[in-house]
Amino acid sequence: MYPTKYHKAASIDDAVAALTSGESTKILAGGQTLLATMKQHLAAPSDLVDVRKINGLSGVSVKGNTLAIGAATIHADVAGNADVRRLCPALASLAGGIGDPAVRHMGTIGGSIANNDPAADYPAGLLALGASIVTNKRQIAADDFFTGLFTTALEEDEIITAVHVTAPARAAYAKFRQPASLFALVGVCVAQGAGGTRVAVTGAGDDGVFRHAGLEAALSANWSTDAMNAVAVQSEDLMSDLHASAEYRANLIKVLAKRAVAAAS
Ligand SMILES: Cc1cc2nc3c(=O)[nH]c(=O)nc-3n(C[C@H](O)[C@H](O)[C@H](O)COP(=O)(O)OP(=O)(O)OC[C@H]3O[C@@H](n4cnc5c(N)ncnc54)[C@H](O)[C@@H]3O)c2cc1C
Repeated sequence: MYPTKYHKAASIDDAVAALTSGESTKILAGGQTLLATMKQHLAAPSDLVDVRKINGLSGVSVKGNTLAIGAATIHADVAGNADVRRLCPALASLAGGIGDPAVRHMGTIGGSIANNDPAADYPAGLLALGASIVTNKRQIAADDFFTGLFTTALEEDEIITAVHVTAPARAAYAKFRQPASLFALVGVCVAQGAGGTRVAVTGAGDDGVFRHAGLEAALSANWSTDAMNAVAVQSEDLMSDLHASAEYRANLIKVLAKRAVAAAS
């Protein structure tokens, strides 16, 4: 074992101070990933800064047709929130399909996107919805936030405070679950809104979540399941592992994109 100091931050300033003072400090949200990696000794932070009780970091507020979801909001609260269900039912449904009830009552939207697991659901949802990620320093477009496998644009002393999502005209997320982990073997989110027609894929990319230009072009010309028939989804840059080959994932991308378009229509 190794010693770890626990800090309970009362404010963002408090959290930033703790983050910059320790030897190797990590932010702790629901601990769904971080504690598991610490138990496996894949991470051994000197200090943990718990951000869950920071005032204003949990919960959902609305300005016009834009949702502001606090970074420490648990998945179950995103799934059940009346404003999320009204303005962006696709996101509510995505959150409701994450893991199991225990995970949904501990895991947070901020922790999920900071971790940027290549099979996580939120990255595909937020990328397709053209969301922006608000930190203690700046606002980052989802397009610039997810930079690769388990990596993001976040700097060492940067804390996600909220996620902003503007209501799309239509959107849906379709997921094919990996039954052992409950993560997405493949997940596809389709959306039409101010940012145009966007299709984002999780669980399949060699380099994590990505947008599919071919499916986006077909759907912006004609929003229908048939419009995707002629699109070739290549398997070259897709993940292949013991759960599914790259070719299988390529096929799933199209199947799920069609299911999502049908659901959004
Ligand atoms: C059994 C199981 C099944 C799961 N199934 C799914 C699934 O189906 N789909 C899916 O998408 N996910 C799934 N997850 C992941 C889960 O949804 C969590 O959201 C994810 O593990 C992150 O956990 P957390 O929010 O508790 O963050 P933590 O584990 O506490 O933190 C994760 C990382 O994010 C950093 N972090 C946390 N909050 C912030 C912040 N505000 N600012 C900056 N950095 C921050 C931490 O320092 C750490 O590096 C599953 C997890 C488990 C254990």
